[in-house]
Amino acid sequence: MASECVLAVDVGGTSVKAAVVDARGAAIAPVTVPTSSGADAVADQVAALADELTAVANGRGLTPVALGVVVPGLVDEDTGTVLLAGNLGWRDVPMRALVEKRVSLPVAFGHDVRAGGLAEAVLGAGRDAGDHLFVAIGTGVAGAVMLEGAAYSGGGYAGEIGHIVVEPDGDACACGGRGCLEAVTSARAIARRYASRAGEEVSAAEVASRAVAGDVDAVAVWDAAVAGLAEALRVCLCVLAPELVVVGGGLAAAGEQLLGPLRARMAERLTFQRVPRVVPAELGERAGCLGAGLLAWREVRP
Ligand SMILES: [Zn+2]
Repeated sequence: MASECVLAVDVGGTSVKAAVVDARGAAIAPVTVPTSSGADAVADQVAALADELTAVANGRGLTPVALGVVVPGLVDEDTGTVLLAGNLGWRDVPMRALVEKRVSLPVAFGHDVRAGGLAEAVLGAGRDAGDHLFVAIGTGVAGAVMLEGAAYSGGGYAGEIGHIVVEPDGDACACGGRGCLEAVTSARAIARRYASRAGEEVSAAEVASRAVAGDVDAVAVWDAAVAGLAEALRVCLCVLAPELVVVGGGLAAAGEQLLGPLRARMAERLTFQRVPRVVPAELGERAGCLGAGLLAWREVRP
C-alpha cells in the first residue's frame, strides 16, 4: 500500500542515524544523534527514535509497518545477537530482543556493513549487478558478500575482509593478528602509519592529499594501502569471482586516487582470475540506514 512505510535505525560507534523509509526505499526526515552508552540505553534510544519517526510518518499520512535496526561488530542475524562489538563495548548482547521488548512493530535486525551492501545492491552502485562484493573502508575495514540479492552472513562471521593478512608479520591489528588489511588500509591505519614515518598526526584524507602533492611519506603510506587492498581483493576474487566490487566507506571519498591505482595493481597481480569492475559506492554514509529500511521491508514483505 502506498500509505505504508518502515522505520530504519543504523547504530554506529559514535552516532545513530535514523529515518522513515518509503516503499521505494527512499529516506524521509533523516536524523542523526550521538550514540547512548550501554546496550539497554541504546535499545531505549532506538525505541525513542521509533516513536519520534512514527509521529513524523503519521504527519505525512504514512503508517510504519516494521522497524529495521542495524549495528556494527560481529552480528548473528539468525539469533538477533551482537556477538562482539568493540566500538560499543558489547559482547553477546541480545539486541533484537531488547528492541522488541520496547516497540510494538515487527523488528528486522542486521549488521551495518551487510545492510550497507544490501542498500548499494538494491539502490546504489550494485543495482544492475549479479553476485558481488561490497567493501567499506572507514575507521575499520569490512565487507559484504552479496549472493542472490542478500548479504551472506555465515553466522555473523562472513565478510571480514579487513582481517585478511596482507603484510605477513606486519603491524598489530585490533583483532590480535598482525598485518591485517585493517592494520594497513583503514583510515585509522593510514593516519597512524603516516604519523610514525613523518612524526605528524593528520587525517587519512590529509595523507591522501599530501600523497597527490608528492609528500614522500604520504606516497609510501598510500601506496602500501592500495597494495594491501589489492592483495585482499585478490584473495576474495580467487574464492568468489565477483563480477563487481563496490568500494564504500569514508576512504572511498578519495575516489579515483584510490580506485585508479587499485585497478592497476590488481591487473598487475591477477593471473587467470576474472577481473571485476571496481566502482565507488553511491549512497555514502546513508547506506546502512537505507539497508536497515530494506531489511524492515523484507520482514513484512518477504
Ligand atoms: Zn585483524
